[in-house]
Amino acid sequence: MTHPIDAACIFCKIVAGQIPCFKLLEDDNTIAFMDINPVNPGHALSVAKGHWPTIDLIPPPILADVAKTAQRVAKAVSKELKPVGVNLLQANGEGAGQSVPHLHFHILPRVAGDRASLNWAYKPGDMAAIKALCERLKAAL
Ligand code: AMP
Ligand code: ZN
Repeated sequence: MTHPIDAACIFCKIVAGQIPCFKLLEDDNTIAFMDINPVNPGHALSVAKGHWPTIDLIPPPILADVAKTAQRVAKAVSKELKPVGVNLLQANGEGAGQSVPHLHFHILPRVAGDRASLNWAYKPGDMAAIKALCERLKAAL
């Protein structure tokens, strides 16, 4: 299936290799990488390779692939980091807290008492720590 591209989109640029990411895995229709503004350590994203902004626009087979990649990452997060729980979150539209209009699932490991909410502010993470977590999770995939 052809993947639409929006040249101005940050995730399309990551898919194209034009900007770097802490990559966990990649297959025909999906890519997974670490979120650089993590709510908690190990926060990762499962991203469609094409530019489909929201759930109503993405072809169902691609959505299934993005969900499968999210499952793979969630399993690695659970195995390696042993969080108290893991949320999968997928936002549609600014009103839902979506800041990058290119379909993705958050894989969000939970920390006891973190009071994580649906709409969080971007807070840049420590890049060395994110890289180290990426290596650990890759080994656990
Ligand atoms: P959302 O707000 O649900 O659209 O989620 C977008 C997520 O992408 C946010 O959690 C950002 O921290 C994350 N993000 C934005 N730019 C990058 C990037 N260059 N590399 C990794 N994650 C990013
Ligand atoms: Zn895009």
